[in-house]
Amino acid sequence: MTAVPRVVIVGAGPGGFYAAEALFDLGLGVEVSMIDRLPSPFGLVRSGVAPDHPNLKKPIETYDAIARQPGFRYFGNVEVGRDVSVDELLQVHHAVVLCYGAPRDTGLGIPGETLPGSHAATEFVGWYNGHPDYRDCHFDLTQESVVIVGQGNVALDVARILLHGVDELRKTDIAEHALDALAASRVREIRIVGRRGPAQAKFTSRELGEIGVLPAADVRVSPADLMLNPASREEAAARTSVNLKKNLGIFARYALSVGSGPVACYFNFLESPLEIGGDGRVERITLGKNRLEGEPFAQRAVATGAAREVGCGLMFRAVGYRGDALPGVPFDERRGVVHCESGRVISDAGPMSGLYAAGWIKRGATGIIGTNRACSGETVEALAADLPGLVQAPRGGAVALAGLLEGRGVRTVDYPAWLRIDAEEVRRGRIAGCPRRKFTRVDDMLGVAFA
Ligand code: NAP
Repeated sequence: MTAVPRVVIVGAGPGGFYAAEALFDLGLGVEVSMIDRLPSPFGLVRSGVAPDHPNLKKPIETYDAIARQPGFRYFGNVEVGRDVSVDELLQVHHAVVLCYGAPRDTGLGIPGETLPGSHAATEFVGWYNGHPDYRDCHFDLTQESVVIVGQGNVALDVARILLHGVDELRKTDIAEHALDALAASRVREIRIVGRRGPAQAKFTSRELGEIGVLPAADVRVSPADLMLNPASREEAAARTSVNLKKNLGIFARYALSVGSGPVACYFNFLESPLEIGGDGRVERITLGKNRLEGEPFAQRAVATGAAREVGCGLMFRAVGYRGDALPGVPFDERRGVVHCESGRVISDAGPMSGLYAAGWIKRGATGIIGTNRACSGETVEALAADLPGLVQAPRGGAVALAGLLEGRGVRTVDYPAWLRIDAEEVRRGRIAGCPRRKFTRVDDMLGVAFA
C-alpha cells in the first residue's frame, strides 16, 4: 500500500462505531474520521434506546473506547449535505462510509393522519430522549385513550413510557421536559394494534414480557385472537421460531390473567387503521378487520371489509423508519435506503469508487444494536478488499476536512469537546439523582463545548 488509508464515516451511531472498530481491526493503521450532525455522538443509543433500558446503552462504553484510539477524530455538529458534500468528502479521503441511519417515520397514508394528536412514534421517542430536533414537540397526555399502530419494539417502548410512573422515570436519563409532561398524564387506555396476527408481531419476547410486570398495566389479550390459522401454526412450529414461541406463550399468559393496574393495555390483532377522524384534532380511529393470506412466513394482511371505530385522543404510528437521500448518492425511494450491495454503494454504472454504507441506511430499520456489528463488518470487508485500488495517492484526510470546515466557519465539536458536554450532563444528573440530565438544545451543548 502506498499511502495511509484515510476513511471518513458519516454518522456516529452504532453502524458508524462498528465500522470504525472494524477499520481499526484491519491493523493497517487506518485513519478514521467520524462526522455527526449533532454535537453528541452515539445516535440511537443516546436518542432511541428507551431511558428505562440503561443496559442497552452499555455499548456506549465500547464506542467511547473506539473514539479514544489513536487515528480517530470526531467532527460533531457537522451536517453532510449542508456543511460539506459527499463529493468533497470523497476528494479528501480514500473511502467514505455512510452510516447516517434512518430517522424518518414511514407514515400510513390514510385520511386524518395530519390531525393534531396524530404523531410518529419517532417524534415521541426523540422527544422523551431529549433529541434537539424534537425538543419542542407537544403531546397531549391529558387524553385518556391512546392508539399505537404497529407491533414492533418501538410500539412497546412508547407504551412502557406511558405506563411507567414518573417516580420510576425520574431515576433515568429521560429528558426533563418529558418528565414534566408525563407527570400530568391522564392516559387510562392503550391499544397496540397490529395489522397481522400474534404470530407475526415483531416484538422481542423480553420486551413483550416486560409490559405485563409494570404495576400500572392491566394487559388484555382476547383468547380468540390466539386461535392461529394453519399457516401461522406452521410458523410457530418451525425450529427457528424461538422468539415467536416465547411471544405466543406470553400472549397466552396475558389472555388468562386479570390485571389490576389502572391503565388497560390492549393488544389488538388483524386490524389496519383506515381513517383518523375528529373535529380539529384526533378523536377516533377507524380500524379495518383483516385476515391473513399467503404461505407461512409470507402471510399478508388482506382487508375483510369489516371495520369498527375506536375512540382515541392520541395516536402514534410505530410502523418503521426510513432514511433520507443525500445529494449524489443513489437511493432506493421505496425502501428508504442507499442503493448498495454488500456495503458497496451502487449507481446505474456499477459500484461507486470509495463509497460504502452500513447500518440502517444500508439494510433498513431492522435488528437490534448488535446487528450493526455484523452489518458494518461486511461493509468494511468489502472496503478492505477494494483498498489496494483506492490507496494509490495520498489524501488529506482529517487535517484537510478540518481545514475545509474551518474555512466555512463550521463550529466543529471534537471528541474532547464532547467529553466536556458529557461531563456536564453527568454532573447535572448527579444533582438530580439520575445518570445524566441531557442537554436538549444544540446551542446549550455548544456553550459547554466551547466554554
Ligand atoms: P418493526 O419492528 O419493523 O415493526 C413495525 C410494525 O409496524 C410491524 O408490526 C409492522 O407490521 C407494522 N406496520 C408496518 N407498516 C404498517 C402499516 N402500513 N399499517 C399497519 N402496520 C404497519 O419496527 P420498529 O418497532 O420501528 O423497530 C425498528 C427496529 O428497531 C426493529 O428491528 C426493532 O427490534 C428495533 N428496536 C429494538 C428495541 C429493543 O431491542 N429494545 C427497541 C426499539 C426498536 P408487519 O409485520 O405486518 O409489517
